[in-house]
Amino acid sequence: KLHNTILELKGNIRVFCRVRPVLPSDLPALPSPEEEERMREELKAKMDFPDNHDHKEIVLHSTSESAMGIERKDVYNFGFDRVFEPESTQAQVFEEISQLAQSCIDGYNVCIFAYGQTGSGKSFTMEGGPTDSTAGMIPRAVEQVFRVSEEMKSKGWEYKLEGQFLEIYNEAIHDLLIPSTAPDADKKKHDIKHDPKTGRTSVTEATVVPLQSPSQVRVLLTRAQSRRSVAATLMNERSSRSHSVFTLRISGVNVAGEKCEGCLNLVDLAGSERLNVSFGPGVTEKERVKETQSINKSLSALGDVISALGERGSSLSGKEVHIPYRNSKLTYLLQNSLSGSSKTLMVLNLSPLAAHMNESLTSLRFATKVN
Ligand code: ADP
Repeated sequence: KLHNTILELKGNIRVFCRVRPVLPSDLPALPSPEEEERMREELKAKMDFPDNHDHKEIVLHSTSESAMGIERKDVYNFGFDRVFEPESTQAQVFEEISQLAQSCIDGYNVCIFAYGQTGSGKSFTMEGGPTDSTAGMIPRAVEQVFRVSEEMKSKGWEYKLEGQFLEIYNEAIHDLLIPSTAPDADKKKHDIKHDPKTGRTSVTEATVVPLQSPSQVRVLLTRAQSRRSVAATLMNERSSRSHSVFTLRISGVNVAGEKCEGCLNLVDLAGSERLNVSFGPGVTEKERVKETQSINKSLSALGDVISALGERGSSLSGKEVHIPYRNSKLTYLLQNSLSGSSKTLMVLNLSPLAAHMNESLTSLRFATKVN
């Protein structure tokens, strides 16, 4: 059976798909070098990347057995704005994203989301590793914004850059940039406020840090990350159950007094897996249910918002499409950056493993919905 889904570019919404490589940690035991290649091949889901469409297609083959014992083969074909194979480097992915970093300097509000099951490479894509070559989209985008704003000085523009880093867990907002890493250091209550006059959305009592250099931002990100992991050890892998939202605001003024404001939101979403995995000790059934509901709520609210935007973008009649921002903290927080005039990119991260095939298909179907 052949399933064919082409996700077309609609309005300012684009969807990329990135498959991570098979990692040494995916292998069951330390294999001998001769065995290693064979093991890798055995573990892999059957995926093809036909390159006759400029890296825009991914084909998944699944084999299952019906209750009657009949073997059933399914072929799923998905088209994206861009598909990245396991061998793709961070630099190659950023090449396709750098345009969006430029857009925020030009005054657009931009959102980049990483969506996928836990372990599929969302954090690697967004934050990346410690070396220059493994640096992810956040440090690369920051570096580019700094570089371009520096270059624009010769054209009479002065820019101010500010950063904010928030976490949404169980529909509550936490500040990742407070100076202390003590687990209960954030005693403030963070509410989202929307000012209908200016159209701006802000978060009460959230730390906003003036950004001076890419290296300062790296320090901030590391600190934010350690805050997230402090919480994670306490709350059982909380980082995979929460969304993190890094926001870079840029405002410029030129010699003629013209102003320009934009922002770039880089969002590492909670793991999309169905949360039926058993939690470690210390987490009750009630807490688990609450986490599951809030993740499902925000991910589906995000899907609904993006799909409504896509509908509006492709609606020739210009009919008013209701955008349901208020259904989750995530979409309410990002309201300004998820509108008709903003640019949105969803990076769908996939595991390459056969064992994760069903989860990968669920993710791919979510991407179908947002497009
Ligand atoms: P997630 O954030 O979706 O839970 P991670 O980003 O933590 O997943 O990725 C899981 C593991 O896979 C990490 O050890 C990460 O370093 C590794 N990884 C993910 N993507 C890649 C990649 N493209 N190349 C090399 N390693 C990767």
